[in-house]
Amino acid sequence: MTTSTLNLPTTIAFGAGASRELPRHVQGLGKRHALIVTDPFFATCGLADDFLALLSRNNIGSTLFSGVQPDPTDTNVRAGLSVYRECGADLVIGLGGGSSIDAAKVISMLTANPEPMRAYMGYHKVPCAGVPLIAIPTTAGTGSEATRVAVITDTEHHEKMMMLSGHLMPTVALVDFELSMSMPKPLTAHVGIDTLTHAIEAYVSRKANSMTDPIALSCIALTASNLPTAWREPGNRKAREAMSIAACQGGMAFSNASVALVHGMSRPVGAVYHVPHGLSNAVLLPTVTKFSLSGAPERYAIVARTMGLASGADDDKSAAHKLVGGLEQLNEELEIPRLRDCVGAGREAFERSLDKLAADALASGSPQNNPLVPTAQQIVALYQEAW
Ligand code: NAD
Repeated sequence: MTTSTLNLPTTIAFGAGASRELPRHVQGLGKRHALIVTDPFFATCGLADDFLALLSRNNIGSTLFSGVQPDPTDTNVRAGLSVYRECGADLVIGLGGGSSIDAAKVISMLTANPEPMRAYMGYHKVPCAGVPLIAIPTTAGTGSEATRVAVITDTEHHEKMMMLSGHLMPTVALVDFELSMSMPKPLTAHVGIDTLTHAIEAYVSRKANSMTDPIALSCIALTASNLPTAWREPGNRKAREAMSIAACQGGMAFSNASVALVHGMSRPVGAVYHVPHGLSNAVLLPTVTKFSLSGAPERYAIVARTMGLASGADDDKSAAHKLVGGLEQLNEELEIPRLRDCVGAGREAFERSLDKLAADALASGSPQNNPLVPTAQQIVALYQEAW
C-alpha cells in the first residue's frame, strides 16, 4: 500500500488586511509575548514598528529581532534565538520574505531541540515541536508560510542546509497581498519564477500525488496569467493578490510533493555565489526543464497547456517542447539575466566549482525526485548549458 501525507498550517488567513488580524491569532494560541523576526529593511521602513504597536494596543508583548540577511545563516538564527531567550517570548512571528520566515522557523524549532543545527538537515530529523510560529509573508514567492521546509546557510561549510519536518510548519499563515505591493520589479520577477518553479517541480516530482496535483496546477495557472502583469504594473492589486495566492499554493504543493532538479542545482549556486534564490531558479528552469521532458512528457504537456503555451491539438511531445520555449520567453519578458551574468565569477572559476556544485546538488536529495534522475556529469553539463 502506498500512502501520502498532506501537511498544511492549521490556519491560513488571506486577502487584503489579513495581517492586521495578528493579535486575534496570537490570543487564540494563548500566547503573551512574541518575538518578531525580520530583516533590516522592515525594521527601517516602519512595517515592523506597525506590528509592534498593533500587538501592544492589544496587550500583547513583543520584541523585535531584525538581524536576518537574505539567504539566512546559522549565525543569524543563533543571534535571534538568544534574543528570544532574553526577552522571555512564548511565540515567534516571521515577518518578511522566505529568509525571515525560514530564520523564524529554525529559531522556533531550536527552542525545543538542542544544537547542533546541522543535525536537523535533511528529511524528518526534528524530534520535538518548538513554540508556535506565525508567518507573515511580504514576497509572493517562496510559499514558506505554508511549507514544512527551512533553508539556512551553514557558514562553515558554505552550504545551504535544507531541513524538512512537520515541526517547521507555521501554525498560522497571514497572507496579505498588500504587504507585497512594495516589491521592486526585479524582486517581483525572481520570487514569481520561484513560485512557478515550485509548482512545476511539485507537479512533475516522483512524489506528486492526487492532493498536491490540483494545488500545483492552480498555482501554475495563476502565475502564468498574473506574473507578467504584477511585474509590469506593480500597483495592480488583482495581479498582486493572485500572485500571493499562487505563492502560498506553490508552497503547499512542493512542501508535500517535493521539489526536484532545478532546486537541487539552484541551492549550491546560491550558497557559493550568493545569487538570490528565486533568480538562481529562474536561470536554470528552462535548461533543466528541457533535460527532464522525456521523463514525464505527459505531465510537462499538461503544464504547457495550463500555462496557455500549447493546446489540446498539440500532442504531448510537442506541447512539452513548447513549454521550454515559453519558459525562455517568460525569462526574457521579466528581464531575467543568464547564469553567467549573476554568479559574479568568470567562466574558469565557475568551471572549477562545478564538481562541488554537482555533488552538493545530488547530496540535497532533490534531484532524486526529478522525472529523469541525472548523474553528476549530467548536472555539470546542465550548469554549462545554462551558463
Ligand atoms: P528574501 O526574504 O531573501 O528577501 C529579499 C529582499 O527583498 C530583502 O532585502 C527583503 O528586505 C526584500 N523584501 C522582501 N519583501 C519586500 C517587499 N514587500 N518590498 C520590498 N522589499 C522586500 O526573499 P525571498 O525570495 O522571499 O526568500 C528567499 C529565501 O527563502 C532563500 O533563503 C530561500 O532559500 C528560501 N526559500 C525557502 C522556502 C521554504 O519553503 N522555506 C522555499 C523557497 C525558498
